[in-house]
Amino acid sequence: MAIVQTDALVLRSYRLGESSLIVHLFTAAHGLLRCVAKGARGPRSRFGGSLEPGVRLSAVVYRKTERDLQLLSKADITAYWPPLWEDPDRFARAGAVLEFLERAAYGEAEAEDSSLLEAAIATLAAMAQAPAPALEAILRGFEVRACALLGYAPELSSCMECRRPLEQGGLFHPLRGGLLCGAPCGGDAASFRISERARRTLIALGEREPASVASWAMERYPGHEVSRAVERFLSAHLERFDGLRSMRVGERLVRYAEGT
Ligand SMILES: [Zn+2]
Repeated sequence: MAIVQTDALVLRSYRLGESSLIVHLFTAAHGLLRCVAKGARGPRSRFGGSLEPGVRLSAVVYRKTERDLQLLSKADITAYWPPLWEDPDRFARAGAVLEFLERAAYGEAEAEDSSLLEAAIATLAAMAQAPAPALEAILRGFEVRACALLGYAPELSSCMECRRPLEQGGLFHPLRGGLLCGAPCGGDAASFRISERARRTLIALGEREPASVASWAMERYPGHEVSRAVERFLSAHLERFDGLRSMRVGERLVRYAEGT
């Protein structure tokens, strides 16, 4: 058994037995760790309110490689962004970041790699402060960057077949993982055309820090094209992805708030 001290983000937690919690942590040390927090729901729990989704922790985990559930021994809050949970827009986008990590990280990783955790934390921090119209772009930026960190960045600069540099949009093929020039290289029924603005926006989303995306002028942001491309790409490459659940919850909350 190893005692692991690590930077971590709480993805979700749920009840176990009378007084404990199961907590899914995304950690710098080992990616996704599913842990038991014994007594976490008891009146004098040493975990306090630290095991809520979206909380950043310094965690101590007793880890055995042959075990599915690890033991969470200690959790100290290092950051928390209350505005994320105070309105439906922020709630839905922040939830989508956590859900992405849950789905993209299938199991525990052996090697330490904090890049995806850091990208998620920078994204949540930006979402807590960003003007509402920028939230969607910040989420899409996280998804594009996270895919690149996981080793499947979409090809957006040159045609996947003839390698010609693209300057006028292209045919986006989610399953093949990027753009075709359209002539001579045609797509099939699964591909669809995206504009040059959408192509450049997708590239910029993959390169910029989330805090800088928050300052974009959103009037000319090609939201529909970007969302379609990213969502189709994720559903082709992330196991079990079929439109993030928390986004749909957010949409329902908005409809509820609008009384429809
Ligand atoms: Zn081509």
